[in-house]
Amino acid sequence: MPKKQPRNSFYYFMIDFKEEQRKKGTVYANMAEVANAAGPAWTSAPPPLRAKYEAIAKVQKQKQNVPEKKFTSTGVSLAEIAQQDAERKDAMEAEREDIHNFVVQKSVNKSIANEDIYLIDVNYYCKTSTHYLIGEFTLLRFSLQDGIKNTYHELINPGIPPVGYALDVKLGCQEYGLEMPDDHSKPTNYMQVLANVVDYLKQQDAKMPSPPPVFTMPDKVEPVLDFLQFLCSGVGEDDNQFRVYKLDTLLFMVANTAAGGTDEGFPKESLALVQLKKDSFKYTPELGCEMHERGELAVQCTSSRVKRWAYTVMDWCCPLLGVEALPGTHVPADFDVDLQKKRNAPTRR
Ligand SMILES: [Zn+2]
Repeated sequence: MPKKQPRNSFYYFMIDFKEEQRKKGTVYANMAEVANAAGPAWTSAPPPLRAKYEAIAKVQKQKQNVPEKKFTSTGVSLAEIAQQDAERKDAMEAEREDIHNFVVQKSVNKSIANEDIYLIDVNYYCKTSTHYLIGEFTLLRFSLQDGIKNTYHELINPGIPPVGYALDVKLGCQEYGLEMPDDHSKPTNYMQVLANVVDYLKQQDAKMPSPPPVFTMPDKVEPVLDFLQFLCSGVGEDDNQFRVYKLDTLLFMVANTAAGGTDEGFPKESLALVQLKKDSFKYTPELGCEMHERGELAVQCTSSRVKRWAYTVMDWCCPLLGVEALPGTHVPADFDVDLQKKRNAPTRR
């Protein structure tokens, strides 16, 4: 008999939401209708409320999953592996739902074009047994309507590299164009960096109950999350407050929502990732930070990368939303918009 699919936290939120609305006299025909109505409330739910439903989902899942214990050759319980797989799948579904709510809710209000979207990228010296040793990161804020608004860039000095990792750090420096950590000058004040990050993410709405989602490429989700959690752990802050999501999923959903069912969107989500990886703006000059522009690897600068990602998203989505691309904000300053229009028109895909 197939096992019952574990439900995620949003599902249990919907159950309560449905009951509350029923008491107020609103009855929904099916769960799709409930999901539609409950989505906005879930998106803006404060972290403690979300945490409550996450806990419910976890308990319910454990109740459903009490299989016999079988072990793999390495001694890891098969039930544990299945549990981990289920959790990963749940997390992926919850992420998609959250991004979908972010995009669709805004597009209903006709404001996805005005909504601030945050991108983040990190460069790390190396990965140690416990975490990623970050050397640089950049946050970028843009909207499809106004283009790139600003960035927050930091070079991180972790001080003396952890014992046994000196060579890895050196190789990381070579690969990403970083300078060796300087153990003579003061290491980075992580508490200050965390405060700056939190402030930066609340520019559009200082009263926001939790920071907005931040987007990055799929291979950077883990190091970014690790870094943000590391910042929080140092000062005893809630390390679950950040939502780090995949940029390709966002691009896919924004483009396809803006295309409104026409064939202007992406036929498959994987093609959004292909588009981002194509990195059409890769050789745009002077997008990097001062340190990277001095060296020969400006293309590896986190500031350069987040700007190129933003340009790619805008290059795709602005035409679909009828937003005119302005050089310097929506596309690089030296970009020939008219030429791009001609080139794009017949062969967009
Ligand atoms: Zn840089």
